[in-house]
Amino acid sequence: MTIQTSICPRCGKPTEEGLCPQCRAADVRLLTCRPRVMAVYCPVCESQKRGKTWSDLKVPREDLIAELAVSAVDIHEDAKEIRVTVRSEETGLSRTNCTIEVEATLYSVPVRETCETQILWQKESCDRCSRISGGYYEGIVQVRATNRKINAYEREIATKIAEQIEETLQESGDRFSFISELEESKDGVDVTVGSQHLGQELARGITGALGGRYTTHPKLVGEKEGKALYRITYSIRLPFYQRGDVVVSRGGYFEVREIDGQRLRVFDLQSGMTRTLAEGEVERLLGNTRDAESALVVFTQPDLVGLMDPKTYQTREQSPVPWTFPVEGQPIRVLRDEEQDRLVIVG
Ligand SMILES: [Zn+2]
Ligand SMILES: [Zn+2]
Repeated sequence: MTIQTSICPRCGKPTEEGLCPQCRAADVRLLTCRPRVMAVYCPVCESQKRGKTWSDLKVPREDLIAELAVSAVDIHEDAKEIRVTVRSEETGLSRTNCTIEVEATLYSVPVRETCETQILWQKESCDRCSRISGGYYEGIVQVRATNRKINAYEREIATKIAEQIEETLQESGDRFSFISELEESKDGVDVTVGSQHLGQELARGITGALGGRYTTHPKLVGEKEGKALYRITYSIRLPFYQRGDVVVSRGGYFEVREIDGQRLRVFDLQSGMTRTLAEGEVERLLGNTRDAESALVVFTQPDLVGLMDPKTYQTREQSPVPWTFPVEGQPIRVLRDEEQDRLVIVG
């Protein structure tokens, strides 16, 4: 048996073939670093541009800096067990200096190198902000009510929903689903939207929350790259009755739970049963449970309950309702029926 040994031509240590691992590792550069990386961002919304594509920045700035710094570095392909550390220092509004330290093994020899790069931040108005500042839009969502003005509650909900849906779509990467204007007029709310997708979602979301229907009215506004360009008006009509309205029908009080066209799904505030009422059966509208007052329960008896009128502080006696249990000393919500001079328990 012969043992083949060779000797490293550089350091003279025994080795299998050619240079020994130490000398090989000493011979290669672990890192090569480009001195500069360019980072284009939108000064208005902080979107980042990669290649030709804009996207919302979803990572903290520190992580972005680390990512950009690492993108400037090439690590030798034979390196294994690589660990990278980035230190950065802002040296001006548009410059960040980065030191990248890499620890790795090369041919089983531990090595460590550092290099420097500089991130140059460049401002550019992004695709979305350019559209917004250029007045671009694809539709208007108009929120109105049937035979009445929309109320403060509906304004608030419509606005909230619009903002929530915009945020959700933007977060999912739909950059052009922006609201460029949210205007409160005396008739209702007008939402100007950057995409038909957003318009559609708003019409659905708002009628889903407040009831009613919507119709779409497209209008041809021009042509773009051979395709017809439409702007769509989403015309929302909130129903005359709203959820939480208390209506009077044949001497009974009913809370509106759902509105389906001309039919109301109602809760009988006396019996606690649910039933359907046609709009035509409604005699008058008492108010909405949102505006209920709080009345103190003074006493409870099997067939009688005493409530302190929150306006006059006098005790009113009335029959209890089977679907709720008034507790002495606790408040209960009531609506006032001025016409019948009584308090209606709404729960
Ligand atoms: Zn050697
Ligand atoms: Zn922007």
